[in-house]
Amino acid sequence: MIIAKENTLIGFIGLGVMGKSMALNLIRAGYQLMVYNRTQDKASELLEAGAIWAESVRELAQVSNVVITMVGLPSDVEEVYFGDGGILACAQSDAYVIDMTTSQPTLAQQIYNTALEKGIHSLDAPVSGGDVGARNGELSIMVGGDVDAFNAMLPIFNELGTNIVFQGKSGSGQHTKMSNQIAIASNMIGVCEAIAYAKRVGLDPRKALQSIDKGAAGSWSLTNLAPRMIEHDYRPGFFIKHFLKDIKIALEVSESIDLYTPGLNLAFELYEKLSENGEDSSGTQALFKMYDDQVYGQFEDDNE
Ligand code: NAP
Repeated sequence: MIIAKENTLIGFIGLGVMGKSMALNLIRAGYQLMVYNRTQDKASELLEAGAIWAESVRELAQVSNVVITMVGLPSDVEEVYFGDGGILACAQSDAYVIDMTTSQPTLAQQIYNTALEKGIHSLDAPVSGGDVGARNGELSIMVGGDVDAFNAMLPIFNELGTNIVFQGKSGSGQHTKMSNQIAIASNMIGVCEAIAYAKRVGLDPRKALQSIDKGAAGSWSLTNLAPRMIEHDYRPGFFIKHFLKDIKIALEVSESIDLYTPGLNLAFELYEKLSENGEDSSGTQALFKMYDDQVYGQFEDDNE
């Protein structure tokens, strides 16, 4: 059943790079929002736009018809759903809870099973499209759970994204996101090597990019992240610590199903090295530092 917008209070938890823009889009679409974040400062723009601040997950979960979470790590998801005063202990029966964090498929299934016992509808709905997609309401949203719950939440998803696909039973959204991250992992290496090659042979890398991002090599990373690499702009976007978290989940699942993933393994090795060199809070495009002559030399020295 679709609940009318005017009767819907959405509780939104996690107001970082992605969550803040997504919550703003829901307010602009006319939804009433209650928000909570570990660091309160990050809510200021949303409060100015009309959102109500909740003092705790408990307060938010007790009154919301729909709870959306966009926190960082699986441990954060566990805390907000299963912790003392967590969502599953406090939400109304018949509420909808949607975890849009990139997290473990098995955790999505645990949330679904516990929610089911309490009459709460649960969906896993991770996203792709980056900071740009979140700001523009153009995310790709991959959803797992019950189809009736998906249909009920579709008007909300439509305010956040443009490519919304129901993938099947609980956990399927997270599995689809892992497939997405596996594609990105090897692609990021290709993008770095393409730009490093263009520079080394004396091309203007900006001009080379004009040609190659429109052809068969085109990808989101090439279009959106290669320009940041060329300008040495390593601000996040998408944190390296979060990408490493995704790669680890994808590797764990792949191992458990005996899947051969040499591309993913190499990406893990390179991003681990960046993490060891203090790059956890840089954007994923900082992989280019390993290909950039000067900085790469420095990395080599650091690791001796
Ligand atoms: P982020 O900027 O770190 O945002 C996460 C937010 O969740 C932070 O503001 C954090 O609070 C808050 N949080 C964490 N645990 C909490 C808790 N227990 N209670 C309340 N708030 C809590 O990360 P992001 O870039 O928005 O990414 C969010 C998720 O989406 C990640 O799983 C990421 O992998 C995924 N994702 C990101 C992108 C991207 O391009 N950025 C794209 C697709 C998917 P603090 O402010 O205190 O740290």
